[in-house]
Amino acid sequence: MRLFTCQSCGNHVYFENVRCTRCGYTLGFLPDRIEVSALEETGQGRWRALAAPEDAAYRACANSAQYEVCNWMIPERDPDPLCVSCRLNRTIPDLSVAGNQTLWQRLETQKRRLVYSLLRLDLPVQPRHRDPAGLAFDFLADPASAFNEQRRVLTGHAGGLITLNIAEADPAAREQMRKEMAEPYRTILGHFRHESGHYYWDRLVRDREWLGEFRSRFGDETLDYQQALQRHHAQGPPPGWRERFVTAYASSHPWEDWAETWAHYLHIVDTLETARSFGVDVRLKTTGQQPMAKGQGFDPYSQTDFTPILDNWLPLAFALNSLNRSMGHEDAYPFVLAPPAVEKLQLVHRIIRNQSAP
Ligand SMILES: [Zn+2]
Ligand SMILES: [Zn+2]
Ligand SMILES: [Zn+2]
Repeated sequence: MRLFTCQSCGNHVYFENVRCTRCGYTLGFLPDRIEVSALEETGQGRWRALAAPEDAAYRACANSAQYEVCNWMIPERDPDPLCVSCRLNRTIPDLSVAGNQTLWQRLETQKRRLVYSLLRLDLPVQPRHRDPAGLAFDFLADPASAFNEQRRVLTGHAGGLITLNIAEADPAAREQMRKEMAEPYRTILGHFRHESGHYYWDRLVRDREWLGEFRSRFGDETLDYQQALQRHHAQGPPPGWRERFVTAYASSHPWEDWAETWAHYLHIVDTLETARSFGVDVRLKTTGQQPMAKGQGFDPYSQTDFTPILDNWLPLAFALNSLNRSMGHEDAYPFVLAPPAVEKLQLVHRIIRNQSAP
C-alpha cells in the first residue's frame, strides 16, 4: 500500500481515513486514480477532488453516507450508486442483528485492501451481476440454531462467488478458529487474498495456456478435491511439507497450494510497497547488499521480474519479524519460503504480469 497525503495540508493519512486529522478536510479514495484525495463539496452530493483535475467530479459510495462502511468515491460519469469495491457485494450481513454493522465495517475495510491490490495489478475486477465471469461476495452468518457443524457457513469460493463467514471479523472467534486449524496466521485480509486466488485461477489458468506449467509446479488439480481436504483434516500435512509448500494447508490440494501462494504473493508485494513508500529499504550488512540510491524508485507492483521482489522481501520480512519479537509479538510473517515455494510464487508473478500486459 502506498503512503497517502492530504492535498490540502500535506499531512500523511491512512488509506482508511475519512477526514484529515490536521486540517479537517473530508478524505476519500479515488479508485480510478488509485489515490486518497482531500474533497470539497460542490453541492447536490458532488465532490471536487483535490487530487484530480478541476473538472473531475465524484460522488461518495452509497455505503459511505448510509452505513459508514466505505470511503471510496465514484467518478461522476459512473452511474452505479456503489463504488468498485462495494458493488461486488451480493449479500451483506443482516444489519438488524446487533454488532453486525461493526463486523461488516471490518470486512469492507479489508476487502478494499484486496481490491486496491487487484487494481494495482491490473487484474479484472467486475461485479458478477454485470459480467458472468465477474466476482461477487456473500457475507454470511452461521444460523442462530447451528448446533451441528454441517450448517456452519464455510468461507470459500465457487464460480466467482466468495463466501465469508462474518464471524471471521470477530477477533475472539477468529483466534479460536486459528487455534482449531493450527494456523500460524489468520486474518480477514488473508482470507480475501486466498479466496481471490481461487477466483483468478479459474480466470487466468483453468482454460489457458498456463495449465501445463501450473501442473508441473503445483501438481495435478484433477485429484479428488473433497477427498484431499478430508485427508488433510484427518491426517495433517505430509512429513517434510515445509520443503515444498508455503503453508501446511497448501499441501492439501494443488488448488489450495495455488490459493495460498497467490495470497502470499499479494502479502509480499503490498507489504513491500508499504515499506518502500515509508522509505524503508532493508539491507543486511553481512550480505554486502547496497542500499538503493536516493530517489531510485522501486515499485513491487510493476516489476517485470520476480527476483528483485524476492530479494527485497526476504530482508524486510526478517526485519519485520525481529521488530515484532522486540515488542513481544508473534512474527509478522511466520513463514519460510523454500525453493519450490519460490518457484510457485514466480509462476504466479508471471501469470499476473502476462495477463496485464497490453
Ligand atoms: Zn489535511
Ligand atoms: Zn464503497
Ligand atoms: Zn482455498
